[in-house]
Amino acid sequence: MEDRELIVKTSAYIDRHRDEMLSLWEKIVSIESGTPDKEGVDRVGAVLKDELESAGVETAVIPMERFGNLLTGVWNKEAAGQPIVLIGHMDTVFAKGTLEKNPFRIDENGNAHGPGVLDMKAGLVIVVYVLKALHEYGYGKRPIRVVFAGDEENGHRQTNAESEIRKLCAGCAAAFNFETGFIDDGLVVGRKGSCRVTLTVHGVAAHAGNDPQRGRNAILEMAHKIIEIQKLHDFKHGLFVNVGVIQGGTVANAVAASCEVGIDIRYDSFERLEETLQAIKKIAETRTVPDTTADVTWTKPSTVMPVSEKNLELFRHVQKTADMIGYGKLQTKKVGGWSDSCLAAAEGVPVVCAMGVKGANNHSMEEYAVAETLFSRAKLALASIITF
Ligand SMILES: [Zn+2]
Repeated sequence: MEDRELIVKTSAYIDRHRDEMLSLWEKIVSIESGTPDKEGVDRVGAVLKDELESAGVETAVIPMERFGNLLTGVWNKEAAGQPIVLIGHMDTVFAKGTLEKNPFRIDENGNAHGPGVLDMKAGLVIVVYVLKALHEYGYGKRPIRVVFAGDEENGHRQTNAESEIRKLCAGCAAAFNFETGFIDDGLVVGRKGSCRVTLTVHGVAAHAGNDPQRGRNAILEMAHKIIEIQKLHDFKHGLFVNVGVIQGGTVANAVAASCEVGIDIRYDSFERLEETLQAIKKIAETRTVPDTTADVTWTKPSTVMPVSEKNLELFRHVQKTADMIGYGKLQTKKVGGWSDSCLAAAEGVPVVCAMGVKGANNHSMEEYAVAETLFSRAKLALASIITF
């Protein structure tokens, strides 16, 4: 079948399955799956596994002990071309019980609501129906791999999902990630890496009324350090440093013996991160309040998705396809948030992210998705795959 014909047929398939797509969306939003809720994430995985299998996808579940399992699949395995990988995640940032206050619904403006409705359960529905449509009409060019992670929202910090995902991305010709889409039709071609730092200051406790001179105030020392750390923030050059959490002291009438802050760093290169970590170490070692000490620890730095020529080329392909099917104008976007696209990028695979439904306010109760884009984005993905 000619590409053109396949695009028309698969697009009509999406139109014929609007109700089914909406009900799958409702079904998986109505299963709560916050990242720590392994049982919930795995229930979403079980639904999607069945759906993928009905599209002829050969699935596999890679079990994770404490977090949601990783669901993978391959379709059209025997095809000769270099594979394409479709990426998504099944966990959300919402705690159990959120659904009751924010059930799935589509309002009079056509906006869908519910925990994870945008980030990114709609994207999972798109992937399933892209495969169902291709399966129906027998697209032959390339194998298509699927990766649905169960613990993306904490960056796979406590599982080996990262290495498994990288393995599945390796050797692919292109990766499309169906993360949160933007209202302005921006597609993400670059993402920063992130690293969390914990800085603790140890002082000396003392009664604030009886012998304050004996105390060494850890909070005061931390205050000096925070000012210095925030000076490292360099928005103009793309380095974001944020002291986001602080905890210290016990009661107002005691000199604080300890104080701890949590710091988030977003970077475009590991060199810049390394410089920043060294600077924080130096700040930790420099004391203003005598006799205080400090220690610093940080998490494993996450991978970066640089704005590469490969990504831009893939974006141009999607734009060309969008023009061809009358979707309209897209734009490139670079964002500070991490996603699994960074893992595809680390494997040298061209990647375009934020291919999911359009919406706003993700990670909050005000999160919403434009319901109609469930279909338009599925058609865009289909055409982009078919013509690639
Ligand atoms: Zn997400």
